[in-house]
Amino acid sequence: MGIKTECVKNFFKKPSTKNYPKEKLEAYPHFRGKIKYFNERCIGCQQCFKNCPANAITFYKKGRIDFDMGKCCYCGLCVDVCPVAAIAFTTEFEYADNDKKKFIVK
Ligand code: SF4
Ligand code: SF4
Repeated sequence: MGIKTECVKNFFKKPSTKNYPKEKLEAYPHFRGKIKYFNERCIGCQQCFKNCPANAITFYKKGRIDFDMGKCCYCGLCVDVCPVAAIAFTTEFEYADNDKKKFIVK
């Protein structure tokens, strides 16, 4: 196919990119967005805390855990090692903020 034909063909095609943020982006099913922590399932084994390469997890006495999404590199190790599926990725990705406290998931 010649270059002219290719140009004409693409001229009438819809753009591959989205007009974000006017057009909402849909995340893929296994997208790694903001973490969700199911406190009621947690058995306090600390596997997530011990395996996090970014020190994004703080483990408190009495089993409370915080995830700092400002430090998280979305590697998924905490999700993989948790024996009771108490940690999951959501498809939420629009949470930029000037306030670092808002990156903490409890
Ligand atoms: S996804 Fe990776 S970096 Fe983020 S909290 Fe879990 S183990 Fe840590
Ligand atoms: S790995 Fe799962 S069960 Fe263990 S402390 Fe972390 S969240 Fe709780």
